[in-house]
Amino acid sequence: MPLIADDRYLQWIELDRKALASNLRRFRTLVGPSRRLLAVVKSNAYGHGMIEISRLALAGGADWLGVHGVEEGTALREAGLEAPILVLGPTAPGRTEDAVRSRLRLTVYDRDMAAAISRAAVRGGIPARIHLKVETGTNRQGVRVEDLVGLARRVSRLPGIEIEGISSHFANIEDTTSLDYPKRQLALFGDAVARLRKAGFEIPLKHISATAAAIVYPSAQFDLVRLGIGLYGLWPSKETYLSCRLQKRDPVVLKPVLSWRARIVQVKRVAKGAFVGYGCTFRTTRPTRLAVVPVGYADGYDRGLSNAAYILVHGRRAAIRGRIAMNFFTADVTDIPGVEAGDVVTLLGREGRETVSAETLAALAGTIGYEILTRLSPAIPRRVV
Ligand SMILES: *Cc1c(COP(=O)(O)O)cnc(C)c1O
Repeated sequence: MPLIADDRYLQWIELDRKALASNLRRFRTLVGPSRRLLAVVKSNAYGHGMIEISRLALAGGADWLGVHGVEEGTALREAGLEAPILVLGPTAPGRTEDAVRSRLRLTVYDRDMAAAISRAAVRGGIPARIHLKVETGTNRQGVRVEDLVGLARRVSRLPGIEIEGISSHFANIEDTTSLDYPKRQLALFGDAVARLRKAGFEIPLKHISATAAAIVYPSAQFDLVRLGIGLYGLWPSKETYLSCRLQKRDPVVLKPVLSWRARIVQVKRVAKGAFVGYGCTFRTTRPTRLAVVPVGYADGYDRGLSNAAYILVHGRRAAIRGRIAMNFFTADVTDIPGVEAGDVVTLLGREGRETVSAETLAALAGTIGYEILTRLSPAIPRRVV
């Protein structure tokens, strides 16, 4: 286990540079050399650490970065990152000037947003590039296909603004092994592109695929693929994996990038019949040794893992006893010899032959790997290893 000998910290996150580079290489093989690979680093790079991951992703062969909001994009610029950045989410009217100044590409699906961006571009004397988002069946962000050409015409008459891309997003690849719904979405997207072309708009960057489509739906790759969860070494879902197997494709080898470690702050013996934690939800059935770990739900360790998950201690599983508190939980180390305060434990990641994956914690907490990762507190120190 890579130990970080820094006694200032009681918990930290390790980011595996090689794992990230390896994941990127796998996706580069899938999408080919000429398509743009956009690394989605929204939500603090799925909890990993946005600046660190953005640097690693660009060094590892990503061409673009994708964020949710303008604030994330400007933070990347302030950190000195020069790559093209696409804002995938909406832009608050009061942020258009910041966005234009930071040369962020913005996602647009209505006239008011386009007009505000145009005004900011003119005021700032910097041309703005936008990607029109089309509604194809997710019914989240997007302009209806019927209204797309009208919007494009209107935008093209506005000063200072250029339509660089057209995008959409799949609703239902991760949840099923059937491609029926994505096929309908793809047909609508194709229709949208054709309508624009007929109206005289040739849009350089067409994109609809995220990780799952990159793996199981290659005909949807177009000019750019927006790679989120796969970059971090996770499958979007079991269904995506099954889909991949059903299609007789070799599953992509993905390596988790993130490990979460902490130091035990106290080891204590308690008698048989003792209660553990808030609510006295656990009662020992034998003389027990408990390790107190200074991590809680405020750090992003889901409270749903109370009395359910395990951590790795000296490479072995130690069951969590009692409730996860805001800043603490306790684990049973009775059967693991030699455990002492100061020992490093693994909450997420590998130790020897044992692994705790985000998927495992997600299943135990009743959620998905994405949520386990994105809720990791940004205050936890990150180290690239
Ligand atoms: C988050 C997001 C992605 C990345 O999805 P993954 O399943 O994590 O690859 C791609 N596109 C858009 C629009 C997104 O919001």
